[in-house]
This record gives sequence, structure tokens and C-alpha cells, in this order.
Amino acid sequence: MAYDPSNIFARILRGEIPCQRLYEDHWALAFRDIHPQAPHHVLVIPKGAYVSFADFAAEASAEEIVGFTRAVGLVAGQLGLEAGGYRLLANHGPDSHQEVPHYHVHILGGRPLGPLVLRPAPAA
Ligand code: 5GP
Repeated sequence: MAYDPSNIFARILRGEIPCQRLYEDHWALAFRDIHPQAPHHVLVIPKGAYVSFADFAAEASAEEIVGFTRAVGLVAGQLGLEAGGYRLLANHGPDSHQEVPHYHVHILGGRPLGPLVLRPAPAA
């Protein structure tokens, strides 16, 4: 799938759309999810143009992967989530219900999250 530079996160990166920015460095931008599913629900996105995890894992440079991964850890630490714990989630493709085609990691935390629960499969 080709990268679509008009996706909403690309527009946030270009400053065309506002966001509640928590962290930014050379590799990543972190901001609060507009529809939070937990007391802390933060999206961390790489600065590079990658559609999803698969694209990022295959195409990003080692520096980008390290820089991005460090940024995710830094943000979780800055939010004070290390002791209590947090969940990382990255959706790839239609079965995952990925909505925005710019790779992102969700950081969820701030309360006990319980086990990961998925919607049941529709009846055949
Ligand atoms: P996905 O389903 O692609 O993994 O997650 C996309 C996330 O982006 C959703 O949780 C959704 O609430 C969030 N989102 C969509 N549009 C915007 C926006 O304009 N601003 C922010 N901050 N979050 C958004």
C-alpha cells in the first residue's frame, strides 16, 4: 500500500491540524488520542512516512527504529506509567481495524486495563 500524505497524522506532523503534543524529537511525535480509551491514551508516530508496522519494520533504518522505540519508552516513563504498567498496541491492516494509515503505537495506561479483550467474530 502506497503512503498517502493526506492522512490525518501526516497533517498533524506538518502542523496543519492541532494535537495535544506531549513529546517530540528527531524521530517521533507523541500526542493524546482524540478518543481516549484509558486515563492515558497516547499515540506515538514516527516522523518518516510509513503506512503501518509492517512497512516500518521492513523499510525504516536502524536509527529510525531505535529512535522511535526509545521515544515510546520515554513517553511512557514521562507519563509515570512504568511502575503501574501500560499496554502498547499497533494495528496493521484491515483485520486489525487500523484507521489511520501512518504507523503509530498506542500507549494505554493509568488504570488496571484487564486482559486484552477482542470483539467476538461475527456469526457465520
Ligand atoms: P488505529 O485504529 O489506526 O490504530 O488508531 C487511530 C487512532 O487515532 C484512534 O484511536 C483515533 O481515536 C485516533 N485519531 C483519529 N483522528 C485523530 C485526530 O485527528 N487527532 C488525534 N489526536 N487522534 C486521532
